[in-house]
Amino acid sequence: MRRFTVYDSLSRETRMFVPITPPKVGMFVCGLTPYDDAHIGHGRTAVLFDVVARALSHWGYRVHYIQNVTNIDDRLIARGAETGIDPLRLADRHFLAYRVAMEQLGVRSVNYYPHATDYLPEIVQQIRTLLEKGYAYESRGSVYFEAAKFRTYGRLSGQRLEEARPGTRVEPEPGKRAPEDFVLWKAARPGEPSWEAPWGPGRPGWHIEDTAITASILGPRYDLHGGGLDLKFPHHEAEIAQAEGASGLAPLANIWMHAGMLQFHGEKMSKSLGNVVPLQDAIQKHGPMVLRFYYLNAQYRSPLDYSGEATLREASEAYDRLDAPSERLREAVDQRGPDHPGQELPEEVLASSNHLLEQLDELLASDFATREAIAALFGWSRTVNEWLPRFESLSGPSLSALAAPYRWAQEVLGLFEGRGSGQDSERIAPAVQVAIEARQRARDRGDFEEADRLRESLRSAGILLEDNGSLTRWRFAPGEAG
Ligand SMILES: [Zn+2]
Repeated sequence: MRRFTVYDSLSRETRMFVPITPPKVGMFVCGLTPYDDAHIGHGRTAVLFDVVARALSHWGYRVHYIQNVTNIDDRLIARGAETGIDPLRLADRHFLAYRVAMEQLGVRSVNYYPHATDYLPEIVQQIRTLLEKGYAYESRGSVYFEAAKFRTYGRLSGQRLEEARPGTRVEPEPGKRAPEDFVLWKAARPGEPSWEAPWGPGRPGWHIEDTAITASILGPRYDLHGGGLDLKFPHHEAEIAQAEGASGLAPLANIWMHAGMLQFHGEKMSKSLGNVVPLQDAIQKHGPMVLRFYYLNAQYRSPLDYSGEATLREASEAYDRLDAPSERLREAVDQRGPDHPGQELPEEVLASSNHLLEQLDELLASDFATREAIAALFGWSRTVNEWLPRFESLSGPSLSALAAPYRWAQEVLGLFEGRGSGQDSERIAPAVQVAIEARQRARDRGDFEEADRLRESLRSAGILLEDNGSLTRWRFAPGEAG
């Protein structure tokens, strides 16, 4: 296991990573609230943490990476009321689209995507513990966390309690004792989806699902918590208070990593500002590898500016320069085989390939310096270009030595996977699996209409489902094999 440093947002310093039980690493990243299509900002966070998990696996750690799905919340309920679509269906549909985008982007390191509504007993239990320990109070069928009871509330975001008040966009809630208190269980209003709990029918607050899910899957303490910078307050602050309050153990996570925001001309990308670029549009137009390259060719904690189409066109041109020699090499190796006899590269070129491999790992091990790793790969592409006219005469092992840094980048950065939009059968399989799971969830809650709709939409995409007891298999319809 390679040792590496990472910037920890809680202690505000770059620290050596020390796993709780090596070689295992428990990793949790805040996922999507799928009330709408994902935008390119979501892609940035997803790709960053995919690279973190890939790098850790490459270095010999055994990563268990989970990312939650907030499939019930106020925004989903509001969007459901606007569109006339059941919020749980809406969540499943948008999440399915998100998973397809993740497959295309090569985000494959997440082991499990737990949905909030699949963890209701764990959520109710954690709220009960917080009530018993005096951190929470019940009011009008809802339960709130009393922020003032948690001594270090505000430490992550560096705010004092009196500053830690919700923004003006948040409606005042009449049942709260103090404005900084946050909801753990929200009493249902008529017509809203709700679940039974000792305090009356309602739904979990946004923050509690994460800590109930991580406590049940990763335990009361784990190694790495990630998310977008915009989630630091109040969401992550609330998570720390809930989890440490309930378990009595600290810290919840050894390392807190935050991804910088993607900005449109310096502004936050948001629906209300009308500057949202849907992730799927960018993937279709520029290809997933260009997008990955664009995200990774930046310092991950800094804001990443997007100033319209031109930004991704430039990224596409730059990626072409990096990718072209790697493509040519791949062709040469494929044609001639790895053992093909021929001229050997000079010692110093072979040595510099090895040196570059070490340097690339070193860069990633220094707080995931992906931009510097990409710069080093550009340098290598210049070397490879010099040898390009002589590819025909080189031996298989020499060609492999030239290709080695690209193979590293393919494994760790997820780049160089070809420029297509990733629709072949192997890449589509996990997305189909998600559709099958969404259909199963719809059936479990008795929503057979939605289950049938999912089956039909897969059928129209040339994918047939076969139910066998509780197991569902899929295959391509005849003539549609991918
Ligand atoms: Zn979260």
